[in-house]
Amino acid sequence: MRQSRHIGRTLREAPKDAQTAAHSLMIRAGYISQLSAGVYVYQPLLLRTLNKISQIIREEMATAGAEELLMPAIQPKELWEESGRWERYTAVDGIMFAFKDRRGSTVCLGPTHEEVVTDILRREVKSYKDLPKCVFQIQTKFRDEIRPRFGLMRAREFIMKDAYSFDADEAGQDASYEAMRQAYHRICERVGYTYRAVEADTGAIGGSGSHEFMVLADSGEETVLYCDTCNYAANQERAESRLEQFPQDAEPRPMEAVLGRGIIGAEKLAEFFKIPLWKTTKTLIYEADDQMVAVMVRGDCDVHELKVANHLNVKVLRLASAEKIRSLTGAEVGYAGPIGLPGHVRVIADHHVKGRVNFECGANQTDYHNINVNFGRDVALPELGDFKLAREGDGCPRCQGRLKAAKGIEVGHIFKLGTKYSQAMNCSYLDANSQTQPVVMGCYGIGVSRMAAAWVEQSHDDKGILWSPQIAPYHVHLIALNIEDEVIRTQAEALYARLQQEGIEVLFDDRPARAGEKFSDADLMGLPVRLTLSKRTLEQGKVEFKLRTEKDSTVLSPDEAVEKIKGVCGIR
Ligand code: ATP
Ligand code: MG
Repeated sequence: MRQSRHIGRTLREAPKDAQTAAHSLMIRAGYISQLSAGVYVYQPLLLRTLNKISQIIREEMATAGAEELLMPAIQPKELWEESGRWERYTAVDGIMFAFKDRRGSTVCLGPTHEEVVTDILRREVKSYKDLPKCVFQIQTKFRDEIRPRFGLMRAREFIMKDAYSFDADEAGQDASYEAMRQAYHRICERVGYTYRAVEADTGAIGGSGSHEFMVLADSGEETVLYCDTCNYAANQERAESRLEQFPQDAEPRPMEAVLGRGIIGAEKLAEFFKIPLWKTTKTLIYEADDQMVAVMVRGDCDVHELKVANHLNVKVLRLASAEKIRSLTGAEVGYAGPIGLPGHVRVIADHHVKGRVNFECGANQTDYHNINVNFGRDVALPELGDFKLAREGDGCPRCQGRLKAAKGIEVGHIFKLGTKYSQAMNCSYLDANSQTQPVVMGCYGIGVSRMAAAWVEQSHDDKGILWSPQIAPYHVHLIALNIEDEVIRTQAEALYARLQQEGIEVLFDDRPARAGEKFSDADLMGLPVRLTLSKRTLEQGKVEFKLRTEKDSTVLSPDEAVEKIKGVCGIR
């Protein structure tokens, strides 16, 4: 491609609203331009990268046994009512672009395709002999995100690869899931990310398994907790952890309600009572759909609301108002505890509150705290579960190691769906005994456009982008200096033609611009190899070869340059 005809003007300054390197660099290098909030033009250079990413994905989907199709982006409301998700996606989350067509039917632009694919497969699959099946598509998705941000990272229109598997039973689903999990690993490896596959929350979808593929980058919105001693890694949203256990008092002491005027918060309490923080207890009162719930965790940790909501299986979980807390506990906020709460309040506690002898908790009386509390004697042991937020430094739940934290960008998310959609939408088959059985499903998403942004976020320097040859828009940036010189132009044109004949992809800077401008544009755009033709190199019949990732250049003959490029870019 000749740069004189290329669309994608470079900018010296970052746009004001660009908060991340990827957002800023992709705009400055002319890869994207904004049409409206969260809606971007994929400019020609980016499109080439997206096509390369898509090609890698297509090859790995084929290896995993998935067949490509393309589903409509326009979807009827009725399908979403069948699955029971219309309300949530429109009224509750508001993520759906929905509108009425001229016939008066309500339709939406697909944010995801579980409904449509289930509808297709329920017409396709009749008997166990028709299973398993697995399909995928690469398509534009539409989500009216509350806060579109970071350019392609969280857009309202973006490209996703979504795949769906259909199996006769759980064992089949496990095999399909495993094939996809491996395909996702190969995709991330081929692109060249530093990444981790982590256990992920399955949230409202439920199901027995889910992994997210996280590209590690400081600007990532997700927190990953991982253990270097074993292979445990999980999204903080779902991570478990082991807290330190301490030696306990040999004897229970009598419980007392003690005055601690205005002493609120675990740290202050520990100081006031001169007890370790882990002996204090946080008791938080929540409204969970239509029930009231008290959640207890050890004073040295925090309640993780997502875990609580999942355990209770509720849609809405929020901290109770001061007024509600007053009427429930008879005390101001800050003095809640499990003893003496009204019977309709469900009390649940994190595992780690157990096993403590003589602990502290709120007395449900303003300014008072109970000390030397013991389960079984003073209050019944509540329903236990994992309700605390796991943190860096906590013990690994699988081994004796400690958890570390890293920031990540979720590029892919795979799920075992079970029979959620097949049961709701009647996607079933006849087994060998002519019994009707629901199909067992899995879904597997990866954000094609987010993958490009994640690469830039992970791989750039202060001058611009550093593409890997696997997904670079072109392999080579061919730069001719003093191109108005007839000899240089002729030589540069010849080299441009030669490189292309060799199967090398070239962006040819044939503009009559200054050297400084050409070099800074090349650094910004970030193609892996830069070849420069100038009067100086020409005198020797040579060309200057430089890798974007390296400082120094070498002077090579055209033949040597071709060989080197082929080696670096894996061209055969
Ligand atoms: P997130 O948690 O980031 O909102 P999600 O969990 O809703 O994403 P999925 O429904 O699992 O996303 O979609 C699969 C993939 O699509 C994600 O892993 C991500 O790479 C990509 N993706 C999702 N939402 C967006 C968006 N608004 N812009 C760009 N890519 C997105
Ligand atoms: Mg996700």
